[in-house]
Amino acid sequence: MEHILDAASTLPEWLASRGQPAWRAKAIRRWLHAGRAETYAAMTDLPKGLRDALEAEFRIWTTSIARHTRADDGTEKLLLELHDGQRIECVLLREQGPGAEGAGARRTVCISSQVGCAMGCVFCASGLDGVVRNLTTGEIVEQVLRLQALLPADERLSHIVVMGMGEPLANLDRLLPALAATRDPHGLGISQRRITISTVGLPPAIDRLAAEDPGYNLAVSLHAADDALRTQLVPVNKAIGLADVMAAADRYWEASGRRLTFEYVLLGRLNDQPEHARSLVALLGGRAALVNVIPYNSVAGLPYEEPTPADRERFLDILRSAGVNVHVRRRKGARIDAACGQLRRLAVGPT
Ligand code: SAH
Repeated sequence: MEHILDAASTLPEWLASRGQPAWRAKAIRRWLHAGRAETYAAMTDLPKGLRDALEAEFRIWTTSIARHTRADDGTEKLLLELHDGQRIECVLLREQGPGAEGAGARRTVCISSQVGCAMGCVFCASGLDGVVRNLTTGEIVEQVLRLQALLPADERLSHIVVMGMGEPLANLDRLLPALAATRDPHGLGISQRRITISTVGLPPAIDRLAAEDPGYNLAVSLHAADDALRTQLVPVNKAIGLADVMAAADRYWEASGRRLTFEYVLLGRLNDQPEHARSLVALLGGRAALVNVIPYNSVAGLPYEEPTPADRERFLDILRSAGVNVHVRRRKGARIDAACGQLRRLAVGPT
């Protein structure tokens, strides 16, 4: 049975065929986008007959929680089972420290866009078995709603990062309506400025996003500043090349006016040496971008290592002294494998 959110575009027609006014689609959307109705029965402003017809035709939830883990730092991770038995992960990250309590605190969800991933980045758990399929719009929104439901009633989600499993720019057709749903002011009302899409860097899709809806933050996963090393770490780079990735990122920046982020996973001795930092400085060439340095999260069975603290600091120093804005991502929820497709693999078992 189809997810009601996947039927959004045909819902007005479906309503019309039942003699219902089209504006009821909006009423239904309000319930769904806010995550306020677990069942159609709860949609009390709809006529009973319509609720029954909806119940018979569309599902509100198509996922079930296969596993729910919570780390000491407040990070919570859900392993969701989809209607076809596939599993995806999504994570709730809570801001820590003074002032982090209360309604205004930062609460970020990290969501997946595909089951598996076709990009094949060699250090990433999500792509080890390739891509299985795209997530539907409903499945993408459902992750956000399931995580929102973990919060007490007075706490709201503030940020979304599309940095879970999958390559979001390979599934824009379903992702964009899903993100639009999370922005609905009658629903979760998450501001577009607080939504970040992370990509391996697919130029045609970056251009499409720039043309259609450039208000999202774009984070481009670089991991290396020269083509030979990047192709080794990020195999899709072979067919694309850094020059095209950077040019597309620049066009996005021009269209959006939002500061670009470049992600860089530090892998011990592979891309964390002074020459790598210097070549990254040269590649950035004075762009007003943010470099998000991500400590490598070790993945069982993969040969990569975290950088030593000394190597990491030296790498960061070179960037900072060249005037590059650097942010080092704090490790959150590491003990619950709250990163990068790892829980799904644990649950599925090694292959
Ligand atoms: N496909 C998109 C989004 C998903 S991955 C992309 O490539 O950006 C989100 C980020 O996590 C990427 O920067 C990715 O390279 C990084 N990542 C993947 N595996 C990781 C690991 N084991 N440790 C640290 N970061 C990892």
